[in-house]
Amino acid sequence: MRYRLLFALLLVAGCQAASDKEQLRQWYDQNNEQYFLGMLPKDTVIDYSLHDDEFMGATTKIEGKFHISLNRKYNLAVNVAKVTLYHEECHVSTWGEIEQHGLRWKSCMHRIENEGAFEGLL
Ligand SMILES: [Zn+2]
Repeated sequence: MRYRLLFALLLVAGCQAASDKEQLRQWYDQNNEQYFLGMLPKDTVIDYSLHDDEFMGATTKIEGKFHISLNRKYNLAVNVAKVTLYHEECHVSTWGEIEQHGLRWKSCMHRIENEGAFEGLL
């Protein structure tokens, strides 16, 4: 009986994590089509694997593949997670810019804002 309960709990926990990751993937794919003309890489990994509490999100590129990781602690609210994802998508879009939040990154954020990305989120 105890094992069965534990198994059920593990299933629920597993589904929750999978669905979160799936949600991030859906948002990324939608944003890519709507605001980036489908130019963001389709194989970008997006998850909640960031645990450094100095950051809400981070983008890295390892062996040619982008990885967007969000810190769950700061992205519990859907609107916050969506804005963090836009922030990181602009990093992917402007990858290679020397200054972390330089002119290209800022202009990416302004452009998607002008196109309505943040409506209802901020
Ligand atoms: Zn940033």
